[in-house]
Amino acid sequence: MKLLAVTDKVVDFIYSANLVEKFADVDMVLSCGDLPYYYLEYIVTMLNVPLLYVHGNHDPPVEYTASGAQLTGPGGCTNIHGRLVQEKGIAIAGLEGSIRYKPAGKYQYTEPQMWRQALKLSPALLRNRLVTGRALDILLAHAPPFGIHNGRDRTHVGFKSFLWLMERFGPRYLLHGHRHVYNPLEVTETQYEGTTIINVYPYKVLEIPDE
Ligand SMILES: [Zn+2]
Repeated sequence: MKLLAVTDKVVDFIYSANLVEKFADVDMVLSCGDLPYYYLEYIVTMLNVPLLYVHGNHDPPVEYTASGAQLTGPGGCTNIHGRLVQEKGIAIAGLEGSIRYKPAGKYQYTEPQMWRQALKLSPALLRNRLVTGRALDILLAHAPPFGIHNGRDRTHVGFKSFLWLMERFGPRYLLHGHRHVYNPLEVTETQYEGTTIINVYPYKVLEIPDE
């Protein structure tokens, strides 16, 4: 299973005719958010594979097309915030947004609000563990977990509830964005218990071995 994950920044060679040639063998695309909807629609149209996403804190509640139509998300793509989905044999759950740093603004959560989102996911994850032996393969998030790849400023601090989700349900991967990486020495992959945490910025290709 080969995955293309994208987040936070439009990459020129992905948003180009080279996309199909470069990623012809990709089985699925995952987006961690903060990307214009036209970019995700381009990718899903060209690659013609499932594209699952969560919103980032900078995603507009409504994006207007040139014709004036209102979009609340990219067409042809699946918003998996707050739920567990099975796609091509992989169990993926999504949690959108970042820590709340402004009183107003969609796709921002206080830590207690994100705890509630995490707890709401739990019954589905427990059920999946009972049925398949594994609760979750991938946790798709916009923000990082607390203390891992996060920033010290209040916009980029991560969620403690994500640490609990990893401890409790042991996903194989946690994919996130939100934290832009400009320094090539910055750590973008970290192991936490049984989970490999990857900062996807601005894209990563992932080979997931079959179990
Ligand atoms: Zn962000």
